[in-house]
Amino acid sequence: MNTKIIKIDPVHIDQEEIEAAGKILINGGLVAFPTETVYGLGGDARNAEASKKIYEAKGRPSDNPLIVHISSVDRMTEIVKEVPPQAYLLAEKFWPGPMTLILHKNDRIPYETTGGMDTVAIRLPSDPIARALIDASSGFIAAPSANTSGRPSPTRAEHVIEDLNGRIDEIIDGGAVGIGLESTIIDLTEEVPTILRPGYVTLEMLQEVLDEVRVDPGLIAADSKRKPKAPGMKYRHYAPKAELLLVEGDNTKVVDEINRLCELAVREGKSVGILATEETKGCYPKGEVLCIGSRKDEDSIGRHLFGILREFDRMQVDVIYSESFSDARFGQAIMNRLLKAAGHHVLEV
Ligand code: AMP
Ligand code: MG
Repeated sequence: MNTKIIKIDPVHIDQEEIEAAGKILINGGLVAFPTETVYGLGGDARNAEASKKIYEAKGRPSDNPLIVHISSVDRMTEIVKEVPPQAYLLAEKFWPGPMTLILHKNDRIPYETTGGMDTVAIRLPSDPIARALIDASSGFIAAPSANTSGRPSPTRAEHVIEDLNGRIDEIIDGGAVGIGLESTIIDLTEEVPTILRPGYVTLEMLQEVLDEVRVDPGLIAADSKRKPKAPGMKYRHYAPKAELLLVEGDNTKVVDEINRLCELAVREGKSVGILATEETKGCYPKGEVLCIGSRKDEDSIGRHLFGILREFDRMQVDVIYSESFSDARFGQAIMNRLLKAAGHHVLEV
């Protein structure tokens, strides 16, 4: 298949191109597009065949449900059994934005889109290209991250091209995304609203709106026998090709330990990648050092994480040693992705 690649400026949206992309979706085709979190691979959420194509293009396990993207809050009512009051409270505060709600689906959404589940994940993105595309389509775009299953999520069109060129109808290049990590998922079908995936909207932010909210125990104990409730969270994910080891502890000890490990690996003839920060990038004399951003600016760390993991793939390093980050607020989402990328391979110093 020949994949059409087009550039769209998010500030001056080319409406003709968007209408054409909307037609592709209406006709059952697949279009990758930017959102504020990561690039999504879109298909018509109400078309079972389109959803099947999404799984096929990504090589995604068929029990891993897709997120349905809408462009106005009231359209949510068309695809769910009922909208609980918390959904409106959260929507008012965090939509458009990086938050996904899980609700009971009705029969307008096929099981192919929800991986066989009776619930559906819904998000209203803020990215102007994403919203224009939703408006130009049926209004319901099923879109998981636009990467090959298991690889780091795409934060630039180049990453989508790497993974999906030749497998889908069109890729819209809208430049680099703003947030860089996937949305926070909140399950409203449980008695107590439950975070199934941490993201830019943090537990603390949700607590300001909801009386009660908890974190899926399967997430906290991600290396134990408890299964996470979001099917996608159980797979090894975001993984670079090289083995990745996360070193945790006091900053100076972490630097010393990474240097020690690096020395040993280099002696064995291995090429080593080091994931460092603005504050520490000059402290590693050996190894290929990539700087993820400043510890003073957590947002920059989130934004660069997946791109850096892909960069190590391109450099073909044999092993990656990474510093770790605080587990508070947005740091929780960053650490969740890093731990998964490392297959929970952590060294405490
Ligand atoms: P992605 O869009 O690639 O980030 O994947 C969507 C994520 O949402 C995956 O982790 C899914 O398991 C999760 N998800 C989607 N729908 C549901 C649902 N109905 N219940 C629980 N998790 C869901
Ligand atoms: Mg994904």
